Amino acid sequence: MAILNFKEIPEAHKASGLQDAFELFARDFLEFMGYEILSDPDRGADGGKDILVQETRTGVGGTTQIKWLVSCKHKAHSGNSVTPTDEANIRDRVEANDCQGFIGFYSTIASTGLSGNLDGMKGKFEVQVFDREKIEGKILNSTKGLEVANRYFPKSIEEWRTENPKPAAIFAETSSLKCRVCEKELLEQEDNGIIQIWQRIRSDYESEPEQIEFVFWTCRGHCDDVLRHYIHQKHPKVIDGWEDISDVMMPTIFIKWVMSIMNKQRRGTLYSDDAFKELKQFLLQIFPYVARHLTTKEKERIDSLGMIPAFLGGLDYGTNH
Ligand SMILES: [Zn+2]
Repeated sequence: MAILNFKEIPEAHKASGLQDAFELFARDFLEFMGYEILSDPDRGADGGKDILVQETRTGVGGTTQIKWLVSCKHKAHSGNSVTPTDEANIRDRVEANDCQGFIGFYSTIASTGLSGNLDGMKGKFEVQVFDREKIEGKILNSTKGLEVANRYFPKSIEEWRTENPKPAAIFAETSSLKCRVCEKELLEQEDNGIIQIWQRIRSDYESEPEQIEFVFWTCRGHCDDVLRHYIHQKHPKVIDGWEDISDVMMPTIFIKWVMSIMNKQRRGTLYSDDAFKELKQFLLQIFPYVARHLTTKEKERIDSLGMIPAFLGGLDYGTNH
């Protein structure tokens, strides 16, 4: 799915004062790619001016300078591909500017006809096309590229960041939750595994306080089973509860968890020293993942869980756990 919406860049030929935005984007993009800008875009009376850039290639025989003519076509607003009619006299333009290469910089794609024409020119000079997909692929792959993208596609980038959350830079060290059984880093996995919470079996819920004995995190499946089996064998008087770690990493669920822990404390739930230490460790490690907006998928998940925080009138998380 396309991430960058090229319609965020205003159309040319419109008296908005921003008419050269796409050419400016091309300049910044090519600079980011390592080209040296020889002539900045400025619009002539004919309504369009190509940009000249230079590439320095270092080889065994020294350095070679390649001069490229860059033709920008911003057709995202109509959605049309760039046709041979849009790109007239390519060869003349390249030769007139004393260039050794041609770059088509398009916010849509080159039409089949134009692609064919460009292929035919490859014997005479070098040809490259940066279309919307290629531009996106290059620009989203580095921090420097993202800075450029953010300048021209602020909405697209904000949306993309919301949907692809990265841990916030909050602590000096990178967060880490290693599976208690196989020691795999859970926060780097697609599936972040589960957290087990073990409490003492009570014979009388009225008089005996809830007592949390162990808190562990593991991979889902095998490691979870292994540890569960081990604890059941070794400690016959405890019973396990569990939660998906990725659920607790959702901001809404996280704060419910914290509320639930506070409520339990208030009601007299006891924790073993280890369990309390581990629980705090868990909350600290996942917090950088939590300090952010919900993704669309998570919003749906929250809805399906029916987990509206108690203080907002929803279910009390503390009573069913
Ligand atoms: Zn594991």
